[in-house]
Amino acid sequence: MSIRAVRGFKDVLPDEIELWHRVESIARSVFKSFALEEMRIPLLEKTEIFTRSIGEFTDIVEKEMYTFTDRSGDSLTLRPEATAGLVRAVSEHKLLARSSILKLFTIGPMFRHERPQKGRLRQFHQINVEVMGTKTPPSDVEVIWMAWEILERLGLRGLSLEINSLGCPACRAIYRNDLKKYLDGIFQDLCRDCQRRSKLNPLRVFDCKNEACRKIMANAPLNREYLCTECVNHLEKVLSFLKTLKIPFVINPYLVRGLDYYVMTTFEMVSSDLGAQSTVAAGGRYDGLLKALGGPDLPGVGMAIGIDRLLLLLEKYKEGPSIDLFIAALGTKAREEVLPWMKHWRRQGLTVQMSYEDRGLKAQMKQAGRAGASYVLILGEEELHKKQVVLRNMINHDQHEITFDDVISAVDSLVG
Ligand code: ATP
Ligand code: MG
Repeated sequence: MSIRAVRGFKDVLPDEIELWHRVESIARSVFKSFALEEMRIPLLEKTEIFTRSIGEFTDIVEKEMYTFTDRSGDSLTLRPEATAGLVRAVSEHKLLARSSILKLFTIGPMFRHERPQKGRLRQFHQINVEVMGTKTPPSDVEVIWMAWEILERLGLRGLSLEINSLGCPACRAIYRNDLKKYLDGIFQDLCRDCQRRSKLNPLRVFDCKNEACRKIMANAPLNREYLCTECVNHLEKVLSFLKTLKIPFVINPYLVRGLDYYVMTTFEMVSSDLGAQSTVAAGGRYDGLLKALGGPDLPGVGMAIGIDRLLLLLEKYKEGPSIDLFIAALGTKAREEVLPWMKHWRRQGLTVQMSYEDRGLKAQMKQAGRAGASYVLILGEEELHKKQVVLRNMINHDQHEITFDDVISAVDSLVG
């Protein structure tokens, strides 16, 4: 029997890696321009980090976590999201004592035991951003702006930003009460999951993917009507900045987040090209979280981009590695002659490839074409005898004969 990867876990193959690098390098350059610092945290945390912060009555904690008891009897969990671990690390290392505002990012895998399907994996990958220590609208805007900038630079089309305010703990309490009353009235019509949610985490009913529940919730009271003055002003400022930045948005009053600790600004970036799993990025403000995890009572705002879903959209740009120079050397002597040159060009940063097998010129040219090489350097028996090479431009088919003495500088200037 052949051994296969675990269901919902995926290999990244050589012809896909270029896209991963592209996404990560664009994200890094956007983060640099916003003065973010990178952090790397463990994939494994004590289970309570997640139950305490995400909330017991959420899909993640109730049914999606990879939790196990290790050999010392401790309950550990593969991280289902990054915020809780980042906040744990910030408070453990007292990072907010050395500067009053922290702007952090991290990139890596998350684990959730969900039903695998297109755009939904059990190991998936996120780019995470957290800005901690400030409550002001510009910090919300910067977080949204970064996500938008990354997706835009990647050339994503059909993207829309949906935004809502969940209110602060004060105004949300009043709303939650009224929403509960409404849900009690329609309890019989809700799906089994939502019946439970209505008792434990009523806002989550808005997040149900079930068509019948969505229909009923269209008539539910909306927390927009309950926002206090402070929350209304905060939202207005965020929206006004977005307008100035020309980042288009729609207010979606049904937008809630699955995690307990979100307050005020909440947002998603949705693609029209992704079918059911259409959310590429999501985030919001989480002011109570640091304190809940035993840290300082400081606010925060963050977002996560789902890399795997993003790549489904970018697949059309998929290409193999681009090869600057393919070396078609024929015969043992020629294949040895080119080695010092290859060493030089590779050190110069050129992507250089030579066939591992000593095949005929026709076969090697075919290989160069398939690899998408920009130039081919040909060194056959005849060229070897004349101490020169042929350099062929694969795009316009120009050919030059170059002597051994000039070959390094000629390639440096033509190809490099
Ligand atoms: P959904 O409603 O799709 O389950 P979520 O609210 O659970 O999403 P978040 O916790 O906000 O998702 O995660 C942020 C982003 O991470 C999502 O918008 C998505 O792009 C990505 N993501 C979440 N879960 C998965 C998964 N199982 N597989 C692939 N990507 C995922
Ligand atoms: Mg989910």
